[in-house]
Amino acid sequence: MNSPEQARLVQPGQFVMLKCAAGINDNPLLRRPFSVFDVDRTPGAGRPRGLVLLVKEVGAGSRMLAALKPGQEVDVLGPQGRPFDLVPGTQGGVSAACLVAGGVGIAALYLLAQRLVQHGVTPVLFYGGRTAADLVLREYFERLGLETHYTTEDASLGEAGLVTCPLDRFLKSRIRTGVRVYACGPWAMMKAAHDLSVKHRVPCEVSLEARMGCSLGACMGCVVRHLAWRWTSARSGFGTR
Ligand SMILES: Cc1cc2nc3c(=O)[nH]c(=O)nc-3n(C[C@H](O)[C@H](O)[C@H](O)COP(=O)(O)OP(=O)(O)OC[C@H]3O[C@@H](n4cnc5c(N)ncnc54)[C@H](O)[C@@H]3O)c2cc1C
Repeated sequence: MNSPEQARLVQPGQFVMLKCAAGINDNPLLRRPFSVFDVDRTPGAGRPRGLVLLVKEVGAGSRMLAALKPGQEVDVLGPQGRPFDLVPGTQGGVSAACLVAGGVGIAALYLLAQRLVQHGVTPVLFYGGRTAADLVLREYFERLGLETHYTTEDASLGEAGLVTCPLDRFLKSRIRTGVRVYACGPWAMMKAAHDLSVKHRVPCEVSLEARMGCSLGACMGCVVRHLAWRWTSARSGFGTR
């Protein structure tokens, strides 16, 4: 998506709101949220010139987006949401970061992986799905040279079972070595990643992908109850130190 200004501004973990229908009053009326997977850059100079998004077709809006042809325009609001906290290795004592993804949650983690590498933190990917076809865009992370742990429920790729199994083993083996967990995916997976982080006493950030109306915190459509009984907006991480 050609959008130099938004490409320049976006931070890891942020998303954009897309108006999927052509007319502002056409259905779907509300914009739909999509994570920014990557920033497209000009060859040579490397100037940001566009956003790369991952769109899974699940309903009317995402189907319209998937049917767009090159050159067609789409109304975009953003970048939205609170970015992930980046703790450089030298300042925060963080040496490794566990990126835990389920399904299209992977889209929120690639910019983060690139930024962590730049900051001298080693990202390790834990990526789970029902079947091998759910584990899309793996090659992008592999090209960054990341250690990867794949799981599928039907054993068609990687370890059979849930992504939290290799995560648990990894956290157990890296006790007190400065690990941080970042998770994005289905709620049950994020809850399990959070619980493991509490068990192993490592900081954890989750990227809450609640359904949303405005994305600005005004309509309160994406509000979720915080563990400490406070209200917080979707896409805000919570610490588990
Ligand atoms: C912050 C954020 C980032 C996202 N990033 C991506 C991304 O990078 N790639 C991607 O493919 N999708 C992403 N999603 C999900 C995406 O926004 C929805 O799939 C999309 O809005 C569906 O719109 P639709 O009109 O196609 O379907 P709708 O007709 O609105 O819904 C179709 C089905 O999807 C379900 N659904 C819709 N939104 C969500 C949601 N947020 N969580 C769970 N179920 C939902 C509905 O309950 C319904 O069953 C993200 C969501 C959020 C909140």
